[in-house]
Amino acid sequence: MKNAYLIELLETVKKRNAGEPEFIQAVTEVLETLEPVVEKRPDLVEAGVFERIVEPERQIIFRVPWVDDTGKVRVNRGFRIQFNSAIGPYKGGIRLHPSVYIGVIKFLGFEQIFKNSLTTLPMGGGKGGSDFDPKGKSDAEVMRFCQSFMTELSKHIGADCDVPAGDIGTGAREIGFMFGQYKRLRNEFTGVLTGKGLTYGGSLARTQATGYGLCYFTDEMLKANGKSFEGKKVVISGSGNVAIYANEKATELGATVIAMSDSNGYIYDENGIDLAAIKQLKEVERKRIKEYVKDHPTATYTEGCSGIWSIPCDIALPCATQNEIDGESAKKLAANGCFCVSEGANMPSTPEAIEVYFANGMLYGPAKAANAGGVATSGLEMSQNSQRLAWTFEEVDAKLKGIMQNIFASCDAAAKEFGMPGNYMAGANIAGFLKVAEAMKAQGCV
Ligand code: NDP
Repeated sequence: MKNAYLIELLETVKKRNAGEPEFIQAVTEVLETLEPVVEKRPDLVEAGVFERIVEPERQIIFRVPWVDDTGKVRVNRGFRIQFNSAIGPYKGGIRLHPSVYIGVIKFLGFEQIFKNSLTTLPMGGGKGGSDFDPKGKSDAEVMRFCQSFMTELSKHIGADCDVPAGDIGTGAREIGFMFGQYKRLRNEFTGVLTGKGLTYGGSLARTQATGYGLCYFTDEMLKANGKSFEGKKVVISGSGNVAIYANEKATELGATVIAMSDSNGYIYDENGIDLAAIKQLKEVERKRIKEYVKDHPTATYTEGCSGIWSIPCDIALPCATQNEIDGESAKKLAANGCFCVSEGANMPSTPEAIEVYFANGMLYGPAKAANAGGVATSGLEMSQNSQRLAWTFEEVDAKLKGIMQNIFASCDAAAKEFGMPGNYMAGANIAGFLKVAEAMKAQGCV
C-alpha cells in the first residue's frame, strides 16, 4: 500500500484494535484494494467514510449464564457487533465456537458490510456469537444456553433493526431455540432471525443457499475464463452446512468431490464422496467424519486438517473456517495443478495464500462475493416474512442464482473499471464498498 492517508488510517486501526489479528487482517485486505478508490473519490475521503467504516457503530458484550445437566452453573461470553446500518438493518450470523472472541466477531461483521452490499438487498453489516461449544452438549443444555443468550440479545435486535442468522455451530436447532425465546420474551412473531424452520417462517432453499450460491458464483467465474465444473476434481474442506451443499451443487454441475473434512481430519476417496452418508453422519447423527471410512472401503481418513490441501485437485472450495489455507498449503495446491480457489468459509485464505494464487494465475473467488448466497437468501426470507408469504424452492433458488450471477458481474466490472481485470477480490471490495460509502456520505456524519 502506497497511499499515505490509507497507511495512517491502517496504523490507527492497528493501535485501536491491538490483540485482534483477524480484524486487522480483514481491514488491511480491504483498505489495500481501495487505494484506487481513494485516488478517484476525494469526496468520500472528505466525508470521513473510511475512518467511519472501520469502526463498529455499536459493540455489545454480555454474560451468558446457564445450568448444565449436572446442575452446575456455566458462564459463557456473548457478543453482537452492529457494524454498519447505512443501507439496511444489521444482518449477519451467530457463531458458537470456543475460538470466538471480539476480534473474530469484528472481522466477520466488517466483512459482512461489503458482502451484504454486494447482494443488492437492503442489509447492513453485523455479526454475533459466543465461545460456547455446542459439540458434546445435550439438546437440553444447548436449549438452556440459547435461551440465556437470547434473553440478553433480544434487547438489541428486531426485524427492522438487527436480524441474526446461523453460522458455525448455529444451525436449525439453535435458531429454533433462540426464536422461541425471543417470541416468548417480546410476545411478537416477527422475522427477527433467519434460517428458521419451514414450519415457522423459514425459507425453502435457505439451508442449501451458501453452498449452492458458492457454486453458482464459481461457475460464473469459470465460464468467464473459458472453464467449467464438468469433469473436474474438487476438494472441499469442512462437512457442515456450507460444505455439504457445495458438494451437492458441484456434483450436479458435473464435478467429482474427492475430499471433505471436519476439525479433526479429512477423508479422501478418488471415486467421489458419498454425500448421503456425510449428511447422515453430520446432519442427523452429529458424529465425526472419521466414521465415514467404516462403511466406505475405498476411502481413507487422515488425522489433521491442513493435509487436505496436498490432495491433487482442479478446484478447491474451503468451507470450514478462517485462515485454513496458508502460504504453504496454497503452494501445494498450485504445484498439484489446482487452478481455482473459491471461498465458502469467511477469510479462509491467509494473505500469503492469496499472494500465491495471484502469482500462479489461479482464479480466486473471495469469500465476501462467493459465499454471499447465504445472506442473500436470508434477505429473501426477510422479504417473505414481511409479505407473510412463502415462495417455492424453485423461485428462491432461481432468485439466488440470479443474485450470484449479478455479484460476479459487479466484481468483474469493478475490477476492470479500477484497472485490475481478473482480480475479483479487488472487484468485490470496491463494488461492495462504493454502495455503502455513497449511503454514508448522503446520510451525513453519523
Ligand atoms: P458448520 O458449523 O455447519 O460447519 C463448520 C465445518 O467446519 C465443520 O465441518 C467443522 O468441523 C469445520 N470447522 C469449524 N471450525 C474449524 C476449525 N477451527 N478448524 C477446522 N475445521 C473447522 O458451519 P457452516 O458450514 O455454516 O460455516 C462454515 C464457514 O462458512 C464459516 O466460515 C462460516 O462463517 C461461513 N459461512 C456460513 C454461512 C452459512 O449460511 N452457514 C454463510 C456464509 C459464510 P467440526 O464439526 O469438527 O467442528
